[in-house]
Amino acid sequence: MVAIHLDRIGHTYGTSAAYALEKTDIHFENGKTYALLGPSGCGKTTMLNIISGLLTPSDGRVLLGGRDVTRVRTADRDIAQVFQFPVVYQSKTVFENLAFPLQCRGWERGRIARKVNEIAELLDLTTRLDQSARRLTAGEKQLISLGRGLVRDDVAALLMDEPLTVIDPHMKFDLRRRIKQANDQTRHTVVYVTHDQNEAMTFADEILVMSAGRVVQRGTPRELFEEPRNVYVGSFIGSPGMNYVPAERSEGNLRLGGVPLLTGDRCIGVPSDGEVLFGIRPEHLVFATASEPGVPASILAVQDHGSSRVVDVAVGPHRLRMKVRREVPLPSGKVRIHAPSERIRLYAGQEMVS
Ligand code: ATP
Repeated sequence: MVAIHLDRIGHTYGTSAAYALEKTDIHFENGKTYALLGPSGCGKTTMLNIISGLLTPSDGRVLLGGRDVTRVRTADRDIAQVFQFPVVYQSKTVFENLAFPLQCRGWERGRIARKVNEIAELLDLTTRLDQSARRLTAGEKQLISLGRGLVRDDVAALLMDEPLTVIDPHMKFDLRRRIKQANDQTRHTVVYVTHDQNEAMTFADEILVMSAGRVVQRGTPRELFEEPRNVYVGSFIGSPGMNYVPAERSEGNLRLGGVPLLTGDRCIGVPSDGEVLFGIRPEHLVFATASEPGVPASILAVQDHGSSRVVDVAVGPHRLRMKVRREVPLPSGKVRIHAPSERIRLYAGQEMVS
């Protein structure tokens, strides 16, 4: 396992002048798990393919453990990869599939058996080792692909490109748990591509949120949730995403529906003109108690999500979403809502200012 450094890397496919990946410098620490998260076309796979060597970047260098591998072919980079679709040898047994990468490296039989058994146990494949891979479900085949990625502990890094795409929704939760457990044990340097924030949040020590060929913020799942640096990240992370509503300026306070939400020091640093937005997570909005300052609102719609409800409320012309636990009684009609000031973030020109 090694650190990965993308040194002033950038890529254009040549078919257009636009950069699929804008010039950037990115460091992945040794032994940590990273998720590249973003919508389709934002450059995730391009970055992954540059690390693996499937793509030579137009600009910059790729360093694995300090070694410049920019022009080194994939096979010589010592990288394990798991793709969207399972890659298994149908004619081989599960054991033979898992053993194959180790046989190719000339490991002796006893050592191979020990390692394969270890990985099979981790992925709950022990009872399947003698079965033909042909008979397995898509989910089980993908487990083998994952196992083949994990089985070599001498790889520089493990790269995964949306490995749960073909998995049935009801199996995803279980597979996510197993991959996480496997990563925690093997401590590979992992770069995991996904457009699913739940996947990214489950696995990653750090997430790189991407948009239009750029990393717009990197941070722990908690940092991205609590301190989204711009409106894009706040909206993309969270389910539903962060509420953004224009703040009314009055007497040095910032108000919503005529009620001061931020006063004094919290307004310092806010640009004196131009639109300022309150950013408030749906989870942080509550119905005000009698003693709390409350913004008058009316309930527009309620969606039942099982253990929680998403309540759409209107404050004047603005619509906000609240996420409340199921046990919280829903007032009807006119309500007052409260946003704790320490939970409110302020944005100007799309970027967080406070
Ligand atoms: P997805 O989740 O759909 O795979 P992504 O975030 O991985 O998307 P990339 O596949 O890296 O995004 O694509 C980034 C940009 O580069 C897109 O605009 C895409 O159309 C373009 N692109 C990707 N591959 C090629 C190619 N081989 N030739 C030309 N343009 C490409």
